[in-house]
Parts: sequence; C-alpha cells; structure tokens
Amino acid sequence: MTQPLLIVDALVKHFRLEPRGLFEAPPLLRAVDGISFSVKRGETLGLVGESGCGKSTTARLILRLIEPTSGSVALDGVDVLACSKKELMALRREMQIVFQDPLSSLNPRMSVGTSIGEPLRFHGLADQVERFDRAREYLEVVGLSADYYDRLPHEFSGGQNQRVAVARALILQPKLLILDEPVSALDVSIRAQILRLLSDLQGQFQLTYVFISHDLSVVKRFCDRIAVLYLGKIVEIAESETLYREPLHPYSQALIRAIPEVKVDGPRASSLSGLEGDVPSPVNPPTGCRFHTRCPHKMPICSEQEPPLKDMGDGHQVACFLH
Ligand code: SF4
Repeated sequence: MTQPLLIVDALVKHFRLEPRGLFEAPPLLRAVDGISFSVKRGETLGLVGESGCGKSTTARLILRLIEPTSGSVALDGVDVLACSKKELMALRREMQIVFQDPLSSLNPRMSVGTSIGEPLRFHGLADQVERFDRAREYLEVVGLSADYYDRLPHEFSGGQNQRVAVARALILQPKLLILDEPVSALDVSIRAQILRLLSDLQGQFQLTYVFISHDLSVVKRFCDRIAVLYLGKIVEIAESETLYREPLHPYSQALIRAIPEVKVDGPRASSLSGLEGDVPSPVNPPTGCRFHTRCPHKMPICSEQEPPLKDMGDGHQVACFLH
C-alpha cells in the first residue's frame, strides 16, 4: 500500500493569551487540540467546521507558518516539524496555499505576471526571462490570457485574481495544495468556475488538496473525504458520499441539515449556526464532549468523559457516545 502524501498526527496548538489580572495565570486558547488525519496522493480532503474550530490554524501548522505545541506532520515521508530552516525552504516548494481573499494575498503594486513568477525568484529557480515565460504560461494554465501579464490586481475581478493566486501557487509544481476557503469571497456564479478549474488542475498536475471550508455545501461535490471539526477536534471523518448520506455525529447532522438541497429527516437548521447556542470559547472549552452544550442527544456521560474517535468501518470514524 502506498504511503499517504500527508500524515498529521496528534497535532496540538495552544496559544498563550495575556492574563486578565495581575495575579491570574495566562489563559490558553486551545485552537487545535489533538488532530490526526492523512491524505492520499491525488485525494481531496475537506476540513469543515464553524469559524474558530481550528481549520485554518491546522493549515498553517501543516505549512509550518506557525510552530505547533506538539504532534507531528509528515509530507511524503519527511518530518516537516524536524526540518531545519534550509530544509523547510526546500519543502515549501512541495506544499503551497491559496487564501480566501486573493486581493489581500497579492501585492497591489506588482503586476499579476510578476506576482505569479515571484516564487521562482524567491527560490532562485529561474532568471527574469524564464520567469516571464513561465508566468505567461501559467496565466494560460488558469484560463487567463498571457497578455494580462502587466495588469495590476485592481484591474481584475475577484475570480480572476483567485486564478492568479492559483497560478502563483502552482508555478512551483507543488505536490500538496492547501485551499483555505478559496471560493468563500467570490460571487456564487464565479464559485462553480473556480471549483471546476481546481478540479481540472488536480487531474492535470496530479495534485493533492486539503480544502478548508465553513460551508459543507461547497465541499459536497469537491472532496473525496471530509473531516468535520468542532472546537479544535475532529468529531467525524468519512468519505464525502457516506458523510452526506449517513452523518453519525449530531454536529455533522446539523451541518448537513443546514444545506438547502439535502433531503433530511427531522427539522432543518437555517444555517451553520442554526444549532442551539453559540460555539463555546476555545479558551475554556466544555469538559467531556465539547459539543455537549449544544447537543440535542446529550447524556450524563457526555459532560464527564471525552468520546474517542471510533472506527465504524470503511474509514468512517466518529467521536460520540451514541456510537
Ligand atoms: Fe452529543 Fe454526547 Fe455524542 Fe457529544 S458524545 S455528540 S454530547 S451524544
């Protein structure tokens, strides 16, 4: 069996905050609290959950843009967290990220062509002439004209700028692309085009994706498997089709009920936040099952013990005492 491209094991990130009073201990924000998953080559794994569940922090930990508190990340057998600065620089060519807002991730004073070629300059991989040629080539790869090379980001629509951001991420020919809410800032009509482009590019370049989204309806057709996160923990992970057909965790069920076109038994939530109550603070998460303060099926054990992630067969795992 081939080794997964990405293996994340027991990853933890706690941020120490400023103490509120002179004699108080600094509180800990438990952004990511023991997350494990793997992604096969050519696969798309969705990381889904409400704002503050730890999905974007997980992305930054994988890329080592921030240092973890504990745990491990391996890309193609290489321990990302054990790399020296020089090794990490080389490894970063293998894994790139596309952010939600293309305008804020592109330099407004730099032509889009120069922006696309910039990673080649940063890594010392091409001279000016080669960068010009490659950037024009990658403009076409993402469905834009090579003649747009000298245009500035403000001359483009949001969808065009996101294509530029994808081209810039791809020009290093990475193995892994992390897509952090890549279509959330775009109009609904443009979303489908960008998702289709990403899907085509995955086949063309044999890419592996980690797709981060707060919206299960977006990842529904795009991801092979989906991990549902709640307050820094994975509560369920399954093949996409299985998760939509038979969600086992009450939180996943609520998220899926919130998708307008999905037929479900029981009351439909109006949105992700259609659940009772707000997401508790990750500074002081609930004891036991972190979802117990919002769960309609809560039992006495739920606030006392933490449910382990249990394998239900075929890679479907769920952390809930109902199963
Ligand atoms: Fe609900 Fe208990 Fe399951 Fe948590 S463990 S999701 S509180 S039933």
